[in-house]
Amino acid sequence: MSDHIETFCPECDEEVRAILINRPTTVAVRGEEVGYTETVAVCPNCQSVIGDARIEGENLSRAYDEYRKRHQMLSPAQITELRSSYGLSLRDFSRFLGFGEQTIYRYERGDLPDLPHNTTMLSATKPEGARLLLSQNRARLGKRAQSRVEARIKSMEEGSSTEAPARLVLEKRESIAPCAANGYRALDLERASALMTELSRRCSKLYWTKLQKAAFYADMVSYERTGQSLTGLSYAHATYGPVIDQGDEMRLILSQRGAIDFVEEGWGEVAIPLAEGHSRFSDEELALIDEVSAFVNTFNSASELSGYSHGLGCWENSADGQIIEYTSSGSEVDASMARRLEAVGAR
Ligand SMILES: [Zn+2]
Repeated sequence: MSDHIETFCPECDEEVRAILINRPTTVAVRGEEVGYTETVAVCPNCQSVIGDARIEGENLSRAYDEYRKRHQMLSPAQITELRSSYGLSLRDFSRFLGFGEQTIYRYERGDLPDLPHNTTMLSATKPEGARLLLSQNRARLGKRAQSRVEARIKSMEEGSSTEAPARLVLEKRESIAPCAANGYRALDLERASALMTELSRRCSKLYWTKLQKAAFYADMVSYERTGQSLTGLSYAHATYGPVIDQGDEMRLILSQRGAIDFVEEGWGEVAIPLAEGHSRFSDEELALIDEVSAFVNTFNSASELSGYSHGLGCWENSADGQIIEYTSSGSEVDASMARRLEAVGAR
């Protein structure tokens, strides 16, 4: 946080550049006095403390963190990580634990867990606990979710972790220099996660196959217009159009990082945004993401968009599994998007 914020002082009745100071304080969390360091905004003219929602939210989460530490409570990030280790959606993970359907969503967003809920979540970190939960709540889960839980229990029993290799595969890629395969940007997992969040916020019915194509268009068009992809992701030829190279690993990392989640809908799983506000993109980049999303939203289904991407020479002329290079594809992809938007009168 910077040491000043632009805000309004009600005492002075004017806009001021308030000074941010840190001071120790206590607050009651669930009837318990918790000590922590709060940040307050002080008016430079009259020295009064100015209430501001932006810093009060941050103070509250610091107090909560302190309370969590005291009670061995899982943090929102740890809860997300636990859920990702099972590969379950927010709703299925809530059901697996025997909670109300919105409960995990609230906890991942920063609400303090109830103590019994915390105990239940901790028990899900151990195979014995997970087995007990599965036997209690199996009936609430679909077949797919049940088998995911069983797979997770098995891997816990074997003491292996399925996530570590995924992280390794992609994090190794971050050290590959800018080239035609990554759109002259070293893979940036932060930006890749942020792009998926932004796309899932703007596009409707974003199944994983559709999300990959949306990202493909965004990266290719960005390369064409700026000489750099947005994320550094590489794309490959697959039967149903371009896909993210190492897509399964990417998907795992997206849910580990809490960027997006997938909820079952119809015959597949639709992406929903999880991460909060502050985007990593410039205004120009956000405008491009808006444009790509408008394009994606002109298609009613994932297969319609796939069909459209089959018309691209860069897809037609590549073999299964082959990397589609930015250098030979950017201008064609940009033009095909423009054609579609024009055809449906979106601009
Ligand atoms: Zn003042």
